Amino acid sequence: MGVLNRRRTALVTGGAGFVGSHLCERLLARGWRVVCLDNLSTGSARNIEHLTVVPEFRFVEADVTEPLELGERTDLVFHLASPASPRDYLRLPLETLRAGSLGTEHALRLATACDARLVLASTSEVYGDPEVHPQPESYPGRVNPVGPRSVYDEAKRYAEAITAAYRREFGTRTAIARIFNTYGPRMRADDGRLVPTFITQALRDRPFTVNGNGTQTRSLCYVDDTADGLIALALSDAHGPVNLGNPDERSVLEIAELIAALAGVDLRVDFRPELQDDPRQRCPDVRTARGLLRWEPVVSVEEGLGRTLEWFREEASAGARDVSV
Ligand code: NAD
Repeated sequence: MGVLNRRRTALVTGGAGFVGSHLCERLLARGWRVVCLDNLSTGSARNIEHLTVVPEFRFVEADVTEPLELGERTDLVFHLASPASPRDYLRLPLETLRAGSLGTEHALRLATACDARLVLASTSEVYGDPEVHPQPESYPGRVNPVGPRSVYDEAKRYAEAITAAYRREFGTRTAIARIFNTYGPRMRADDGRLVPTFITQALRDRPFTVNGNGTQTRSLCYVDDTADGLIALALSDAHGPVNLGNPDERSVLEIAELIAALAGVDLRVDFRPELQDDPRQRCPDVRTARGLLRWEPVVSVEEGLGRTLEWFREEASAGARDVSV
């Protein structure tokens, strides 16, 4: 097939994960051919099972910490491969550091060789425990380089640094997305993140476990919005960093109340000690994304949590996933 009528191809590293699988779906829906590359360490073949019948979808089981051989050209690279939930990266500290360092360089080399545009999935965690609120992209962050969370935060900070260096050194067409807390269907019930933990506890009518006093804030973005933001960034000329998140900031206790109400249970809370280096406040400043990408979240927290709860309910009743927390 000639270049002119070749269907445009997007590589999604980490495509069998939570965000990656939704991104693959949304790219296919927009007419892209999608190569999903994943080592299935924290993701699951089940997340992309429904896509394997689509002719424009290809799954490659591989590790980004090894040099990447696709055997075909790609026009876009979305680099998402990395353990992402605190439970996963604390269990996989060295794998997390390597995915952010070696893995990002391999993705950059591939993008450079293909003259593809690369979007790095970075994180709000690069801001650490911020003194500035909400966080604009210009805020350099306050990260503890030797704390337990540093394996993730510093891996992503390095990933941003090498992405910026490839852009300066080789002219690689890169963009950096700083993703804030994203939730939705296909999160693992046991991944330790706020939304699946509370939803699973609600469905089992158990007390909600809250670390600290619950006044710490989070801003939750529904996964379809995050995936659309990543695509909008890829198709723009912006190189970022660009915050992608929902600025609708709520306290952890407010989120717990909302999930309990949606599930139709009375809220009972089991307060636990505060986690080390857990940010007190988290809220994106999304003015850059609004201005440059014409993007902003469209799914309300109530709507998104309702959809997510419904998905977990169906999974639990199908008995298909382990719902123990
Ligand atoms: P996830 O764990 O569901 O997905 C990560 C995927 O990467 C998994 O499928 C995993 O198997 C794969 N992977 C990990 N190491 C790999 C390696 N060495 N080689 C190949 N594949 C590998 O997590 P997620 O929530 O979907 O996060 C996806 C990306 O978005 C991550 O880079 C994460 O840092 C970033 N992010 C997510 C959030 C969020 O709230 N979900 C917030 C900020 C940033």
